[in-house]
Amino acid sequence: MQGIYSMLNLILFGPPGAGKGTQSEKLISQYHLKHISTGDLLRAERQEGTELGIQANEYISKGELVPDAVVIGMVRNFMLSNTDAHGFIFDGFPRTIPQAEALDAMLTEFNAQIDVVLGLEVQEDELVKRLLLRGQTSGRADDQSEETIRTRFQEYQNKTLPIQGYYDQKSKYVGVHGIGEIDEIFSQLCEKIDALN
Ligand code: AMP
Repeated sequence: MQGIYSMLNLILFGPPGAGKGTQSEKLISQYHLKHISTGDLLRAERQEGTELGIQANEYISKGELVPDAVVIGMVRNFMLSNTDAHGFIFDGFPRTIPQAEALDAMLTEFNAQIDVVLGLEVQEDELVKRLLLRGQTSGRADDQSEETIRTRFQEYQNKTLPIQGYYDQKSKYVGVHGIGEIDEIFSQLCEKIDALN
């Protein structure tokens, strides 16, 4: 399996509501990457009514993180069934240091690595506004309660934010101001990616 993921692997990083999903869609078509959104995968499991989906929903509905082993296994399966990919864009994963370490180990196994971690930087009051607005149309229960949203931020602060330092130490973290026009933010992200070559 040597080299199959060697093209470009990036993590789109940021708090809930920062615009990771929106920007992922644009980046996928620009760079022909495979999208891995653990949130989407978990919601699909729930929709299909699998045991994993039902158990994960207990956490999701409270705004808590799903246990590491569950999401790591899911990502691993996804990568193994997409060995023809030119690279991956990780969206909403990793969310904890153990997930980041597991991802690094998996990529090393495939003779690949994370090339860059793009962080969408948006402050909390703007995020709450965006999430509540999204909740009116997304059909996502976890976007509709301010309490659940606050729990998601706490999880982000406590468990996810340390990942920024983890990749910063490896000189892989690049922050982008995440407020403004979608296309403007997108072109800033593209600039950072193109600068890698
Ligand atoms: P998202 O769609 O990325 O906002 O994720 C929605 C919810 O799914 C989160 O609030 C978590 O409960 C769960 N989730 C998604 N990705 C992960 C992950 N990498 N680790 C743990 N829980 C996750």
